[in-house]
Amino acid sequence: MGIILTSIKNFFEPTSKLKSSPIQISFVPFNINKSVCDCGNVYSETILLQKFCKNCLFVYIKNIKNFDAYLDIHYKKHLGIEEQFEILSEGLYFKQIITNHSLLFYDKLYETCELCGHKYYGIICSVCYLISFTWVDTTSTIPILYLPWWDTHNQCIVCDSELEFKSNCQKWCSNCLIIYTGCRYCLTTNIIFGITNQSQCRKCKRILSIDINISTDNMTNVGKYFLEFNNHNYNQISNYVNNIDQNSNLLEIYNFIKKLSYFNFRIYSQIKENNEDYLNELIIPIIFIPLNNNKSTCHYCKQIYSMTSLFNQKYCKNCLNWYIKYATSNVNIKTVINNLDVYIKTPNTNCNKYEPRNLRDLNFCNQEWCEN
Ligand SMILES: [Zn+2]
Ligand SMILES: [Zn+2]
Ligand SMILES: [Zn+2]
Ligand SMILES: [Zn+2]
Ligand SMILES: [Zn+2]
Ligand SMILES: [Zn+2]
Repeated sequence: MGIILTSIKNFFEPTSKLKSSPIQISFVPFNINKSVCDCGNVYSETILLQKFCKNCLFVYIKNIKNFDAYLDIHYKKHLGIEEQFEILSEGLYFKQIITNHSLLFYDKLYETCELCGHKYYGIICSVCYLISFTWVDTTSTIPILYLPWWDTHNQCIVCDSELEFKSNCQKWCSNCLIIYTGCRYCLTTNIIFGITNQSQCRKCKRILSIDINISTDNMTNVGKYFLEFNNHNYNQISNYVNNIDQNSNLLEIYNFIKKLSYFNFRIYSQIKENNEDYLNELIIPIIFIPLNNNKSTCHYCKQIYSMTSLFNQKYCKNCLNWYIKYATSNVNIKTVINNLDVYIKTPNTNCNKYEPRNLRDLNFCNQEWCEN
């Protein structure tokens, strides 16, 4: 089995209809907030609010004869591409570049792919572009989400924290310990859930060394906790990616990831501060009920506390959701939920607005989209 998996991995082609560019593609920023290109020119914007440098793009198109082999650009093929970029016509945009605005646009477009003829909703063809997720063994391998496009988010796609940019193709979230690397030959992005010192492009196989200096001993330990405590999340991402098919809207993956209750540095630091033994034994303490009922925001994740319908008891919906996922997932993490003197209902179906049954009931709905 191992051999079969390895060979699939080696032959995996995230963007089969495109070639890896022979030279770096430098006309797009990795940070959507960047306003000036390294060449000094101010970035232009397409109709989808993607930023690009006209100077560097035109140089690229001149130097590379058949740019269509490397770039998936939506434009009128019978007209000159430079003129279209000059006037920035409505129909002109890059399919391989995702911004924090891309999700706003996707459902307005119904497209026939110019590379394969497939009809799809969204910006990115679900046949020509393949997302993958590798997670072989949590003790030895860090999970990596391989996106077949260039991700220009300036905020973490998991927790929304501002990303720190280390180069024109590296950024990371110090709250989630997630590293993002981009390949400027293939316009692909690796999202690495943990600490590592290199990253390999799944298309061209180039190896990029990561110069984010978080590989101290202490951080390596922290990284291990993150892998353990987010185990359930990696399972979810893996399932999600495995179920993507030709009718999927590929950008939905961002919405999916945002809904995960990710164990992050803020939660880690609070648990460590209050009781380090919990971490050593991989036990999650009860973190969703405030020690002091006068507090309005959660001590761990800083979200505003919700109230139970009886007695106005406060609890954090976010941390409770996260907690229940651990209590019900089959990882080697113990929770103390069995000793908890509350009554928790965890419905599998849609919410039916709970009526409290006895005085100890902590009434809530643990479905994340529910407002109850
Ligand atoms: Zn430029
Ligand atoms: Zn296609
Ligand atoms: Zn984050
Ligand atoms: Zn590459
Ligand atoms: Zn919380
Ligand atoms: Zn509900």
